Amino acid sequence: MGSRIHVVGGGVIGLACAWELSRNGHGVTVCAPTPGRDGASWVAAGMLAPVTEAQFGESALTALLVEGAGRWPAFAAALEGATGHDVGYDTTGTVTVALDASDRASLDDLLAYQHTLGLEAHRRSASECRDLVPALSPALRGGIEVPGDHQVDNRALLGALAEACRGGGVTFVHSSVTALEAGPVLVLADGRRLGADHVVLAAGTGLRAIDGLGGTGLPSLRPVKGHILRLGAPDAVTPVPLLARTVRGLVHGRSVYLVPRRDGSVVVGATVEERGADTAVRAGAVHELLCDARAIVPGVDELELVEAATGLRPATPDNTPRIGWTARDGVIAAVGHYRNGILLAPLTAAAVVDLVGRRPVTPLIEALAPT
Ligand SMILES: Cc1cc2nc3c(=O)[nH]c(=O)nc-3n(C[C@H](O)[C@H](O)[C@H](O)COP(=O)(O)OP(=O)(O)OC[C@H]3O[C@@H](n4cnc5c(N)ncnc54)[C@H](O)[C@@H]3O)c2cc1C
Repeated sequence: MGSRIHVVGGGVIGLACAWELSRNGHGVTVCAPTPGRDGASWVAAGMLAPVTEAQFGESALTALLVEGAGRWPAFAAALEGATGHDVGYDTTGTVTVALDASDRASLDDLLAYQHTLGLEAHRRSASECRDLVPALSPALRGGIEVPGDHQVDNRALLGALAEACRGGGVTFVHSSVTALEAGPVLVLADGRRLGADHVVLAAGTGLRAIDGLGGTGLPSLRPVKGHILRLGAPDAVTPVPLLARTVRGLVHGRSVYLVPRRDGSVVVGATVEERGADTAVRAGAVHELLCDARAIVPGVDELELVEAATGLRPATPDNTPRIGWTARDGVIAAVGHYRNGILLAPLTAAAVVDLVGRRPVTPLIEALAPT
């Protein structure tokens, strides 16, 4: 007999947890104002990039990202099987390119670091990069090919997850949670109180507005702002898609990426800004992203600017998620996924199912326990 579980949050983490819990026989409710349509998950690029996201000094996090990426083939297949929807899971790979000599030197340092971690990445000349991506500028200084960094269409993913949840009997309560009380009991914005066997906290940066989290052992989350653009491809102008694989770039020391979708559109991102909860779209950030994107792929000039948006990445002080039982009875955390929540959603959901079932989790997950 399954448990009664309330999931707080309808982003990729909340929905993935809810779907996996329902598939494992639990009675699940998702409490969120607009599930599958908001949060960082809605604006994200959808890269599944354990290698190109590897940062100096974060080898433990990289190991987690590699494990997370390994869950994607089965997760995407199961979700597409359950819903009949294509989630745009694409394994063509990624190329990271350098614009100037110091960008090339930085990429070489990064490549050496990736190799010390045992990650697959190959140094490529400028012409080899252009063989892989014909739309690249001829002015580049070469780059790195990373076959194992993939992508998913995050919005298609959220739609499929919401549908899979509904198909699996998950109930949606379209409301914010204002407080957590002992029980565990959730207090909703309209004053209703919902009791459950377990609560899964997956509200991203929204967690900061929920009262009563003292004593959970969770660190404070900080929002890290990201600007991101969506560029459309009018058929008449671009009959052939501009890109067939993700391109990342270093442009005079600044990072930019271009992630192609199956419909020919391209997602261009993203800034990383410590500005509190500010979500305003700033002209300067849009300008910078477009300049950097066209420096490495000049053909973006012909695309249509469809959307300029910002999102708040939920980050812990050490940029590592917290997944596990909190110090409060019956309350599990699945928060703080920062730059890699799309990538880590399948792994997080599987871990939450194991936690609810009181089964052991892997050492990598055990290390993320809030307590
Ligand atoms: C510009 C940008 C680009 C990114 N690109 C990538 C990428 O390429 N690959 C990748 O893996 N990750 C990427 N990320 C990171 C990724 O988007 C996040 O790590 C991930 O979306 C976090 O998911 P989440 O479900 O925890 O939070 P969110 O997606 O923020 O969802 C939080 C949910 O909780 C709900 N909520 C909030 N407060 C409450 C409340 N009080 N009560 C009830 N519900 C509440 C919200 O309405 C929302 O539904 C990117 C992020 C940004 C901003």
